[in-house]
Amino acid sequence: MPTLFISDLHLCSGRLGINRSFFGFLEHEARSADALYILGDLFEYWAGDDDLGDPFNATVVAALARLAGSGVPTYLMHGNRDFVLGDEFARASGVTLLADPTLLSLYGQALLLMHGDTLCTLDQEYQAFRREARSETWIRELLRRPLAERKAAIEALRRQSEQEKRAKPAEIMDVAPTEVEATLRRHGFPRLIHGHTHRPARHVHTVDGHLCERWVLADWYQTGSYLTCDESGCRAVRLKS
Ligand code: MN
Repeated sequence: MPTLFISDLHLCSGRLGINRSFFGFLEHEARSADALYILGDLFEYWAGDDDLGDPFNATVVAALARLAGSGVPTYLMHGNRDFVLGDEFARASGVTLLADPTLLSLYGQALLLMHGDTLCTLDQEYQAFRREARSETWIRELLRRPLAERKAAIEALRRQSEQEKRAKPAEIMDVAPTEVEATLRRHGFPRLIHGHTHRPARHVHTVDGHLCERWVLADWYQTGSYLTCDESGCRAVRLKS
């Protein structure tokens, strides 16, 4: 059975078509998989595990718990929008949180999983923010604020970042080739799967004479899609909307 990979769903209560696709995907395609890996930005944003009571969040958690309960191991890596997803969420949904990056062996091949934002080193402003925001102190300070206040602050931050993104040149928003090569070298020339850039593609990098395949996962803005991998390799599949 294949192993499935998704990322960048940006789930929120208002996106009905995508939500339907996602719940359908969990009930059907994912049910017959060896495992499901969610490589970040499952949610449009996550304000904290004390928001598990939100009706939409509760629906997502219940759907993930049904999948995990059916015996499909389900893994979740943080994205830049949901990096405060924590242990309570993991317990409720039955998912196992993964570090970014995670190197594993799949069908006898080395596979490196990342969200992908750490590869975008040309965006120095974002990397500086990321370093600050992923510190324990920053997260503790954030989670100490009342939930409603936190949500308002995150939404304001998102609006600001959308505006800034429009002003940034396109190549800055993509991965830096030198960082991709350094990463592949550091991890022993694995196959790499990541999301974040919303530029779905299969790339082949030659690093120190090694051929390394790099799959970039698609976002779920127009339709859902996933990457399916087995012994024979990987292939991207689009879900019918
Ligand atoms: Mn992202």
